[in-house]
Amino acid sequence: MNVLVINAGSSSLKYQLMDPETGDVAAKGLCERIGIDGRLTHKVDGKKAEREIPMPTHSEAINAVLEILVDPEYGVIKSVDEIDAVGHRVLHGGMKFTDSCIIDDACIKAIEDCIPLGPLHNPANLMGIRACQAVMPGKPQVAVFDTAFHMTMPPVAYRYAIEKKYYENDDIRRYGFHGTSHKYITRRAIALMGRTDLKIINCHLGNGSSLSAVKDGKCMDTSMGLSPLAGVCMGTRSGDIDPTVCQFIMNKYGLTADEMLNDLNKKSGVKALSGVSSDFRDIEGAAKEGNEDAQLALDKFAYDVKKYIGAYAAALGGCDVLTFTAGVGENGPDMRAKICQGLEYMGVKIDPEKNNTRGKETIISTDDSKVTVWVIPTNEELMIAQDTAELVKAAN
Ligand code: ADP
Repeated sequence: MNVLVINAGSSSLKYQLMDPETGDVAAKGLCERIGIDGRLTHKVDGKKAEREIPMPTHSEAINAVLEILVDPEYGVIKSVDEIDAVGHRVLHGGMKFTDSCIIDDACIKAIEDCIPLGPLHNPANLMGIRACQAVMPGKPQVAVFDTAFHMTMPPVAYRYAIEKKYYENDDIRRYGFHGTSHKYITRRAIALMGRTDLKIINCHLGNGSSLSAVKDGKCMDTSMGLSPLAGVCMGTRSGDIDPTVCQFIMNKYGLTADEMLNDLNKKSGVKALSGVSSDFRDIEGAAKEGNEDAQLALDKFAYDVKKYIGAYAAALGGCDVLTFTAGVGENGPDMRAKICQGLEYMGVKIDPEKNNTRGKETIISTDDSKVTVWVIPTNEELMIAQDTAELVKAAN
């Protein structure tokens, strides 16, 4: 089966054509500058094609993707008919989506209804969906939501302690994000450990970072909230912050709520603390050269993640498996060691030699560690392709 996985942003669109059973990626690429001019970068078999193609809308971008997929030189299929289904990443499923779903009119309407909760991403995701409908009419399509995996959280985890009317009338609650990654990692951890009855704490640490607490395969809590701004400090996001800080800054510097939020999303986090970069490699480099602000940024990030691990161990009543994934989680042995340092009390014992690994699925804890600590490279595209294949097969 061939599934085309689409992640549409407002001016970009990432794609992968993959086999959901083997995980093999036949080709992948990126359309950029949609609505401006248009550029396609396509990768297949170690070859790369770059083309300037006018993309006034997402439809031209999808057309460009389909054309290169059947291109005599860079193509991997003979005809678009060989694409069996399309899977779309959608940011916010609100309270309407507890799982992935086949795209029909009702599904599109529900994604539209979630726009107030995901105002930046849902409209772009919808543009990708509509473009595929226009260019490939009748092709089965599935929406996979970043929030869905977290919908099993109990009210104590998802309710905010604010007036009930905001929850009842406006759906204000914790949703959590990176759900497709947390779901993939959870499934892998369960498969690797050979059992489902596990207390798992997943650390997705990238440019955006979030943790999830999982019991028996179900998400019980997660660190992001109504939006991806909550939780641990991140590349450019502040993470959890006392709202009074915002009131103070807004009043003193005359910032609007949107400007304040923009600062918290784009100018904060380890970028703000280090004054160096949002990229952990740059920050680690600066810290090694004695930059104290960079060191503080690394210390604070590790401290935040450690604090959430402790909180989730308490929430779950223990921890059997701790996982690390995404850019920093997969490739940052120093950060992993720093986070786990001091967690010996809860049975986490890292083996420094095993921890000296990057980008590979492997155990990094000692044989006698009570908690099994895994590095598991995430694969959100594969999860999207698998959900898509499952739903399309079930519908036929
Ligand atoms: P995104 O949230 O954009 O998907 P990624 O999961 O790709 O982010 O993670 C990006 C982060 O991973 C960057 O801060 C980068 O510095 C970090 N990273 C990637 N490779 C390494 C590495 N070898 N060592 C430390 N950090 C790394």
